[in-house]
Formats: sequence, structure tokens, C-alpha cells
Amino acid sequence: MRLRSGVAIDLGTVNTLVHVVGQGIVIEEPSAIAISEMTGAIVAVGQEADALTDKEPQGVRVVHPLRDGVIADLEATVAMMQSFLRQARLRRRLGRIAAVVCLPVETTFVERRSVVVAAEALKPRCRVQLLDEPVAAAAGAGFDLAAGSGAFIVDVGGGTTEAAILAGGHVVRTRSLRLGGNAMDDAITRAVRQQHDLLIGRNAARSLKMTLGLGQDVMAQAEVVGVDAARRVPRVERISAPLVARAIEPTVRAICGAVEEMLADIPPNLAEDIFRGKIRLAGGGALLSGLAYRIESAADVAVVVVDDPLRCVIRGAAQILEHGTFASSASAH
Ligand code: ADP
Ligand code: MG
Repeated sequence: MRLRSGVAIDLGTVNTLVHVVGQGIVIEEPSAIAISEMTGAIVAVGQEADALTDKEPQGVRVVHPLRDGVIADLEATVAMMQSFLRQARLRRRLGRIAAVVCLPVETTFVERRSVVVAAEALKPRCRVQLLDEPVAAAAGAGFDLAAGSGAFIVDVGGGTTEAAILAGGHVVRTRSLRLGGNAMDDAITRAVRQQHDLLIGRNAARSLKMTLGLGQDVMAQAEVVGVDAARRVPRVERISAPLVARAIEPTVRAICGAVEEMLADIPPNLAEDIFRGKIRLAGGGALLSGLAYRIESAADVAVVVVDDPLRCVIRGAAQILEHGTFASSASAH
């Protein structure tokens, strides 16, 4: 077993995680940065920045730079990553340390290149390697990629859903949707406004989604506090499970559709591995109650939620970093 020193980074659309060899996960924060409009200086990063979202602080711009799975604001992405890496306090070593960075699949070559340059500019000096996220997710999901066998991984994140079929460490088929948990939250916000004339914030929508899920219990309700759309005063409302379920249905349908399309196009030699290995569901969206069942019903292949799905990508990236496997399949710059 080869243990390399270094750092693994999962730059997610909603959450960024940093793993340092020998220390484990040292950063687990929202992918957010708050910048002063006057000076351009960084006011806050991570949790502290995210907590300011939609609260309209004067003179401060809150950015979620990877929100839609593409880098909307490259400068902010780079500043955020550098700030997290500084917080991780990488120890200076002789020579360069290895850094493995996972980015959403859709990011462009130019964006990838900028992230590499930004990480390499830091002290201590890093040797940066970019890793396809589905490969990291599959390793984190417990698939034995070294054996060259087939794997089907679906990672439902905030801004993107990435489904991939792999053979060993190699991507065979991949589909990336620009929707995930954020699209569900936005749909819930719209539905609550339409049906109850109530304006709710993103956190309230997210908590309705987490509490009521896909509405298996049709009688369930959850309380939410928002602002009355007409009178502009705070108000409490009870929201029913079917309202939330209906709102998130289009996103769920799109995810199921992507999985079905991929299964329809599977190389026959991989069919048995995938059937026996099951479809593994990762990312925060995997925690949506009822989602695994819905995908399973649509796909006719067993679906399991991986352990600790929010940390699946970083777990896999750390494994690949520490043991040096699949280095060749990683798309280095
Ligand atoms: P990314 O990798 O894109 O940053 P994550 O894998 O960290 O995304 O997942 C974040 C998404 O998961 C968010 O949209 C969040 O609302 C959602 N999520 C987290 N926990 C739950 C839950 N219990 N039920 C439903 N969705 C959840
Ligand atoms: Mg992710």
C-alpha cells in the first residue's frame, strides 16, 4: 500500500470538502464567498459567507461560484479555493505535495486550467491533478475499480446530477444534468408562493424538502416561516407533503430519465457487473427520502444509497490520492 502525502479537494456546487492525508477531512463548508463591493476584499468564506445569502447585507456580494455546475465566476472560485486551502494549513514538506482536485464534469478546459494554476500558486507548492468526479464518486461508493469491473454511479448534487458507467477507472458513459437539489429548492419556493402567497427563503425550502421528501406520507405537514406576499409581514404556514412532492417531481423525473437512457445504451459486457453491483446513489440528493426507490422503479435495477453520501466524492478522491490508483484515468491538465 502506497501512502502519498497531499491533499484532496471536492469543489462541489453546494459544498466544498478538503481532505489532508494523515488528518482526514479538515474542511467541509458551503461553496460560498462574500466579497466587499467597495474594495473587492474577501469578507467571509464558506459557512459564514453562505449564512449571508439573500439577507442583502449592504456593500457585500455573496457568490456561490459553482452554483450551476459550471464556474460562473472564475475569480471567486479561485479565491474561495485558495482560502480553504490556507485554512487547511498544509504543512511544508520537502518538494511538492500532491493535490487532487475534483470538479463538476461540465467545467471547461480554461476553467480547469485556472483552478490548477491557482492551486499551484499556493505555498507549500502543490503538484495538481484533476480527477473526474464520477471516478472519485465510484471509488468512494466502494466499487472495486482496480479489477476493471463495471460500475454505475449517480451523484445527485446541488447544481448538477452526474451519472456515469465506469469500467475500472475509466468512464464508459456519462450524463450530466444541470439540476439537482437547488432546482428542487427553487421549485418548492415557487409552489409555496403560488399556493400560499408566501415568500420563503432558500433555507426554508431546503428544510421542507428534507422533512417531507417525496411525500410517501401524504398526511405529513411541516411548518415554514416566510413573508406574506401581499401584506409584507412575517407569517407561519403549514405546508403539505403532496405540495412539496409535486414541486420536486420534474427534477426527480429528469434524474430517472437520465438513468433509464444510460441503461438503454449499456455495453452488453458490462450488464452483469452493473446488475449485480447495483446502481449506487451518492451526493446530498441521495438523502432525499424516496428517491432511491423512484430510480429503482424506473430502472428495474436495484439502487442503493452509499454510506455518508455527502462525503462520497472526497472519500474516493482521498483513496485515489493516498494509494495512487487510477492516476492514469485522471484528466490531468
Ligand atoms: P455538491 O457536490 O453539488 O456540492 P452535495 O453532494 O454536497 O452537492 O449535495 C448538496 C445537495 O444535497 C443540496 O441541494 C442539499 O439541499 C441536498 N441535501 C442534503 N441533505 C439532504 C436531505 N436530507 N434530503 C434531501 N436533500 C438533501
Ligand atoms: Mg458533489
